[in-house]
This record gives sequence, structure tokens and C-alpha cells, in this order.
Amino acid sequence: MKRDPIRRLPTHLVDRIAAGEVVERPANVVKELVENSLDAGAQRIEIAISEGGIGRILVSDDGSGMNPGEMRLALERHATSKLPHDDLLMISRFGFRGEALPAIASVSRFTLISRPADADEGWRLVVDGGHLTVDSPTATPVGTRIQVEDLFGRVPGRRKFLKAERTEVAAIIDMVRRLAMANPRTGFHLAHENRPLLTVPAEEGDDVAALVARTARLLRTSEDMVPVDFFREGFTIGGMISLPAASRGVADHQYLFVNGRPVKDRMLTGALRGAYADRLPRNRHAVAALHITVPFDAVDVNVHPAKTEVRFRDSAHIRGGLILAVRTALDTAGVRPMAAAGAALAAAFSAQSTPTPESQSFSVSSTQQHETQALAEPSLDYETPPSPRALHKSEEPQQNIVPEEMQQDTFPLGVARGQVSNTYIVSETHDGLIIVDQHAAHERLVLETLRAMHAEHSPAAQALLIPEVVELDMQACDQLEHNAGILGRYGLELERFGKEAVLVRAVPAVLKQPDVQKLLRDLADDLMTHEAPLSLTERLDHVAATVACHGSIRAGRTLSLHEMNALLRQMEKVPASGTCNHGRPTFIKLSHMDLEKLFERR
Ligand code: ADP
Ligand code: MG
Repeated sequence: MKRDPIRRLPTHLVDRIAAGEVVERPANVVKELVENSLDAGAQRIEIAISEGGIGRILVSDDGSGMNPGEMRLALERHATSKLPHDDLLMISRFGFRGEALPAIASVSRFTLISRPADADEGWRLVVDGGHLTVDSPTATPVGTRIQVEDLFGRVPGRRKFLKAERTEVAAIIDMVRRLAMANPRTGFHLAHENRPLLTVPAEEGDDVAALVARTARLLRTSEDMVPVDFFREGFTIGGMISLPAASRGVADHQYLFVNGRPVKDRMLTGALRGAYADRLPRNRHAVAALHITVPFDAVDVNVHPAKTEVRFRDSAHIRGGLILAVRTALDTAGVRPMAAAGAALAAAFSAQSTPTPESQSFSVSSTQQHETQALAEPSLDYETPPSPRALHKSEEPQQNIVPEEMQQDTFPLGVARGQVSNTYIVSETHDGLIIVDQHAAHERLVLETLRAMHAEHSPAAQALLIPEVVELDMQACDQLEHNAGILGRYGLELERFGKEAVLVRAVPAVLKQPDVQKLLRDLADDLMTHEAPLSLTERLDHVAATVACHGSIRAGRTLSLHEMNALLRQMEKVPASGTCNHGRPTFIKLSHMDLEKLFERR
């Protein structure tokens, strides 16, 4: 059988393979160019893009610049000025492979203009389809301008994989934001189709002050952030993290840096999640900007061509340090772990007979003691179920609960007997007992109400006495404005209010006293995350679910027996209330038989 001869791949193919790795999408091109500018000592970097980066990416800096000889060399593969000692471990600069420029030039029309400080004029090189078409002097200020046009124009296979323009722009903003956060001494300006998207000046002050100022500028939630300042043998961790109250519905607002490089690393994000595990509900995510500094030989950045992954020599050490750093910062800020609800339940239902301290929090009589605290919470004012045996709202609340008088067999979900850890409702049914997760159950009910409202085209809106202004970044405002119609169908009425704010006029009536700022932030996050892949119906449901999450009674809130029973009755009326919006059960049932088994009576 004849086979193809073994041959050397032609250079342009090798370049394309490398290009495919380094420049999968416009955001990677932006990253490589901006990192080069940073390496060149730029104090100000301007990035202008059009058509989501496919049409044009222009990066201009005021850095060291190159002379014509250096420019030509920079376009050769593996030509780099950054590995003077041939030691791949001594990588302190962003670049080091010397392959970004030739790779990008091989898949675009590439213009390089540069002028070093000691030259009177600049030079221009144009590479089109792999050929040098212009090589001549030009007038230009000191620094470097690189323009990349028609990206992947000749590599249609690659172009096909690109997402919608909006998504690519979002990826570029995210990339520039990360680079800007890690390099506070440099000013950045990013614009798409001449519209400014991100502008930050070079920050002043000492290193820490500059970092804090830049982080605050870019995160916008600085009031709810606490500083992290941690030192451990072999590394330091500094930056800012959110208090639980400032958590978000998506994990996109976590910025991690290792030795000044933005990284997206599972081990690190996992450690961050772990650090917050008992302080945040599972569907909430911390906001964080954390800078980890380790000796250069303790980390391998050569793992991934786009270099967003890292490999630590001793990752357990770093992981442990990160968790400790975050916990220490939260402890210092007075953030306590949430009630150990899981432990309390496990203790209550373990097969051992020794009573535990947690089991004492199971109380039937303490229903009124936190009423004042509960006032600020959204109220649970369900109509009383239409059962003759049910208690009436009009009866005096202090003495209306005589559980024995209620007949459990009337109601499938039984009669409330009390609350555990202010999180779970325990109710007795004719054949056993039921434990309800109050937050999950209520969230589900609110979602069903919103869905019904939407299906009947009757949004119940609650107009705000004073319309609320919510400040968000421009992209978030764009998303909300763009989806104002959808939001209106749920009773959320808003309009654009200048460049970086929206004005909220009404909120869905099911939400009693929503935190409007937080609701809008989460909705914007949600719309941005789910935009491209979802149909309108799916998006509507995401909006409803996000709204529902905000309207629901929280875990940790004390409920009166009256409120507990109201919730149980409402659950019985609503189909699908048995699972929460995230697919987990909203209640579990232990039959008499289950109990007997647990106590080994059988
Ligand atoms: P690397 O950054 O890995 O060295 P690149 O292909 O990205 O490889 O760049 C090649 C070389 O071109 C760099 O080492 C640097 O000397 C020079 N260079 C690239 N961009 C700039 C810039 N904006 N300013 C000054 N020099 C630059
Ligand atoms: Mg480079």
C-alpha cells in the first residue's frame, strides 16, 4: 500500500498551527499585543476595535518602540528580546516565546509602526497574506502601533468558530479589564466602533494604593469589599474580596493574578469557592481581585500557549494559603459562617441517642421572639388557605397557634411544629414528618407566580415612590436596556439613565422589598452570561428565576408558625413546588417507618 511521504510542514502551516493555539479569538490577539506594550514599559495603552475584533484591532502604546531592524526581527518566529539567559524558568515578562507577532501576522493583514525614543522618525511594515508589502519610513510619535485587520480572513475554519460579535466584544472587555487590574501604573482606553468601553488613568501612590485604587475603579462595588493582605512562607496574597452581601449570581467577577499575570485557574477558583463555602449559598459567587506573588521558580507559566493557566510546584501550599487568606480577611471583617444547618439536621437524625447542642435549636415556642428583626424582611402574606380548620389571619397572632388543634391529615404537607436553624421548617403529617427548606420552597413559589403572571400577560408591577438610579458599567446597562421589554413583562420597569446608569420605576409586585441595586446587578450578569446560547423563552425563564431568588425569604430568617403554615399551604397549591429552581428538593419526608428504622425499632 502506498502512503504519503513524510515531509516537513511548510512554515506558513507551522505558523497557522501556532496561531491557532495562541490566537483562537480576537481577545487573545488583544492580550498578546497589550502584554507586549506592557513589557515595553508603556504608560498608556489605547485599544480600538471594530466588528468585534474581526474587522480591526489597533493597539497603540507609548513604550520603548523598535528600530526597523528590531521590527523585522520581531516578525520572525521565536525571535524575542525577552529570554536573554535562555532559561525558560526565569520568565518575568509577559512574552517569552517570540511567536505571538508572527502568528497573528500569518492570519491577518498586519501593520506594525514603531519609533524608539532616539529616532527622529518611525518605520512602517505591512504583512499581508504572509508577504511583506510595505517596508518604509513614516511619521509617528515614540512608541508602537500595531493594527490587525481582517483577522482569520484567510482561515475560514477558524472564523466559523467565533461567537457573535457581542460575545467577542465581551471577551475583549473582560481581557482588558483583567490586564488593567494587574497593571495599575498604566492607563488604558478601550473603544469599540469609536464607543468608549473602558477608560482608566494611570494610578498614583505606592504599589498597594495604586492596586486598591485600580480595583475599586474597575469593580464598582468597593464599599462592600474587604482587603486581603496575607504573607506566608514563599508567597504573598493581596487584593480585595467581597463581603457575602455583595456576592453575585455568576462567577465572572473573580480576577486572579499570579506574578502580575491574569490567570484563569481551576485550582485557584476552587480554593476561593472553598474559602467562602460556609459563608455563601451555593448559587452565589464572591467578587474578588487577588494578586498572588510567588518566586518565579515556584510557578510554571509555560503550560498553556495563551498562558492563562499556571502550574505551581506546590499547589497544596498555595491552595491552603489562599483559603486561609480569604477566611482571615472575612473573619477580620466580622463575617461569620452561616448557621451550620446541615450539621444540625444530621445530628438531629443520626442514629445516636445522645442529644447534641444543635438539637436544642429545634423550638416550637420561640416563634415571636425575632419579630422585630423580621420586620425588615419581605413578608410572607399568603392568603389563608380555604380550609375550615385553618387558622384565620384576623385572630390574635400571639395566641393563635395551638398546633394540637390542627389536624395533620387535612394537609398533605402537614402542620408546622417549628423551625430548625431558622432555615428549615419541620411539620408533622399524619404519617410522619416533613422538613422544608424555606428559602428553596419560597423561591420556587415566587418563580411559579412570575411564570403564571407572564403566561396571563398581566405583569403585576409595584411602582417605586421614588424611582431608583442604579449605577452599573456600560455593558451591563446596555444589556438591561436591550432587554427592557422582557423585564417589563415581569413588572420590572426601567429605562436608560445616561451612560452608566439605569432608572428603575417599578419592580415586580411579588417582591416585597427587593434590594433593587443587587437585583439589577444580578439580572445584568445573568443576561450577559446567557445571552448568546439561549432562546427567548429560556432567557425569560432565567430572568424569572433571578427575580425569584431576590424575592424569597432567606435561610436564617425566623418565621412564625403562622407564616410557616401559610408557606406549606401555598406549596400544596402549586404544582412542581417539590423541587427548587435549581432542581434540588424543597422538602424531604420521613415517614413513621423511616423514623422507626433510624431508631432501630425495627
Ligand atoms: P514575545 O513577546 O514572546 O517576545 P512577540 O512575538 O509577542 O514575542 O514579540 C516579539 C518581540 O517584538 C518582543 O520580544 C519585543 O522585543 C518586540 N515587541 C513586540 N511588541 C512590542 C511593543 N509594543 N513595543 C516594543 N517592542 C515590542
Ligand atoms: Mg509577546
